[in-house]
Order: sequence, then structure tokens, then C-alpha cells
Amino acid sequence: AEQPSAFAQLPRYVRINSLRWSEVGVEAQPLQHLSKALKDAYQKDLAAGRQVAAETAEVSKDELVPELLVLHPAARCWLQQLPEVQDRSSCLSALAAGLTHGTIVLDACAAPGSKTSHAIELLGGSGKMFAFEKDPRRGKALLQRLRLLCGFEETRRPRGAKGKKASVKRGRCLAVAGHPGVEVEVRIKDFLEVKPWEPPWNQVEVLLVDPSCSGSGLPEHQLQAETDAATATAAGARLKRLAAFQRRILQHAMKFPKARTVVYSTCSLHRLENEDVVTAALSASGAFQVTSAVPWWRNAPRNAEEGAGAEPLPSWAHLCLRSEPGFHRCRGFFLCRLDRVDGGATAEE
Ligand code: SAM
Repeated sequence: AEQPSAFAQLPRYVRINSLRWSEVGVEAQPLQHLSKALKDAYQKDLAAGRQVAAETAEVSKDELVPELLVLHPAARCWLQQLPEVQDRSSCLSALAAGLTHGTIVLDACAAPGSKTSHAIELLGGSGKMFAFEKDPRRGKALLQRLRLLCGFEETRRPRGAKGKKASVKRGRCLAVAGHPGVEVEVRIKDFLEVKPWEPPWNQVEVLLVDPSCSGSGLPEHQLQAETDAATATAAGARLKRLAAFQRRILQHAMKFPKARTVVYSTCSLHRLENEDVVTAALSASGAFQVTSAVPWWRNAPRNAEEGAGAEPLPSWAHLCLRSEPGFHRCRGFFLCRLDRVDGGATAEE
């Protein structure tokens, strides 16, 4: 099947990762380094008689997101092996979170860890990251990614865990550290089981909430066209189930007594998973308000989905960030930043 053009032509993005870059010890700047590697590879391809377009060796700085490089949509496949490959949209969560030195962060739905690792980097050398992942298999991938991206080594086993080899099992905590001053804990556990008012969770200041979603903003999703009525009905039911789950996760995140900021995101273009989830969570909590997520980001004009016949959008909708493939040349994404307005809860619910 052919991809719709907006998705087929999305560039590849590579995030400059200062945690690994300094470790590599390369004199050149990341842009020049990658550019040279791509050009060398291109020359080798030519010498070997392979047909490669010259543009696939081009790389430039992203005009929107800092510390991001842009490559051709058909850039060489070895790039896909780089753990720093991260879509432009996915870089926005950590940027929106307002992280500073020493912040205590919790990533509620962390694997495979793109946003977790970016947030760790933005802590700038001091702070704490608790990364939750429910699925043990994905938890392993998360740990592997953090090791690669952040140069972390496992430094201690969780209390009660026996044996020399690290294992990722449900409920176990694996601590990884290595970046001076930033402590990272990966927990293979359902975030909904965490009791927000108990230590250490009652100290968490910022939460990233990026739950499972329909993925309707992803190129892969666009390939699965809903061909018949039965498929469309099943997709509608799935969407409702996902929205109910997303509401639970977001509402849970808003119960952390010291949380000053919660960043909610999906790679969905459906209002049901985005603004509607936030609306429900806001009416359940009362402690947060929507604030401008990434002030320099410009949204595309709204599309027909929210047009005639639909409920009017909430008054704060323009503060949320939306990326759209045809307009922003990256994956479809929604992000909402919620800031505390009530000074912090004290009592257990
Ligand atoms: N934030 C990730 C990143 O940027 O790489 C992507 C997260 S992905 C959209 C959602 C993840 O949340 C999945 O790995 C899923 O297994 C996990 N998840 C779903 N429900 C969860 C729960 N209740 N607690 C913890 N993790 C959960």
C-alpha cells in the first residue's frame, strides 16, 4: 500500500545528545560529524556502483527544535540504528516540562525512553528521574536505551532483589546512574498502582504522561485504512477504551501533591484522546490549569474534525500544541501542559 504523501515525505530527525556527545570525544560539532559520515557513506556507495540520491547525504539544523538535526526522508538505514533518532514532535514533551537543575521528574509511561532520556539530559546534571513502564519486555528496551543514550550503568540492585544478573520483572526496581548528580530509577510497574501521597512519590515535581494511544498521527497508522463498517466500528470502540484509560492515567498524575507541572501527550490526532481527555481530568481535579506548552510553536489551522457539528473546543485549546504531518513535516502529536494553581494538596485521597 502507498503512504499518503504528507507521511511518506517526513524527514528523519536526530537529536544531539550532549550526554553521549561529550563521551564520544569528537572535536567536530555534531552537525559536521554526521554530515561527514553521511558523505563518506555516499561516496562509498557510488564507488560500489550503488544508486543513491545525493540528497540522502544532506543534514541540517532543525529550524524549530533546538539541538535537533534534520535528514532526508530516505537517509541511510544505518541511521535508524542510532538511538538518537527521535521525531521532532517527540522532542517537545521534555522541552515543555520546564525542567531545571534538581527537578524530581516522573515519567509515567516511559518505554522505549525517547522522552525520558531527553528529560534526563535537560536536568543538566542534577535531579531525579523515576521512569515507569508496565510491560516487562518494553521495560528491558527502556533500560537498554537509557544505557545507550545516557551512558548509564546499573549501580545497585533493588532492595530484596537477589542474584548477580539484572532482570526486569514486574514490580522490581532497577536503579541506573552514571550521569553525575542525576539519579534514575526504572520501575517495571503499573503507574496506576503508585500511591502519590507516599514517599518518595510525594516529592515528585514534574510528571510526563505519554500513554498508549491510537497512534493516528504515526505514518504506520495511516497504512491501516478502515475499509469496512465493521472495522470502523471496532476502531471507534477501541478509541473510546483508549480515551478512558488515558483519562485514568492523567487524573492519577494530577494527584501527586507536589506536582507543579504535568505534561500530557499523545501521538494521536483524535480530539477524543486529546482535548477531551484533558477536559475530563480538569473537571475531576480542580488543582491544575492549562498553560502555554511551548510558546514558540505555531499550530496549524484546525482541520475539519473540530468543524461544524462538533462541540466547541475548550477555551484553553489554543494553548495546547499540535503537530500535523502536512504542516510541520513531522509526526502528528498533541501536547498539553498543566500547571498547578491550588498550592498543593496535603491529604491522602
Ligand atoms: N514516552 C515513550 C517515549 O517517548 O519513548 C513512549 C510511551 S508509549 C506511547 C506508552 C507506553 O506506556 C507503552 O510502553 C506502554 O506499555 C506503557 N504503559 C501503558 N500503560 C501503563 C501503565 N498503566 N503504567 C506504566 N506504563 C504503561
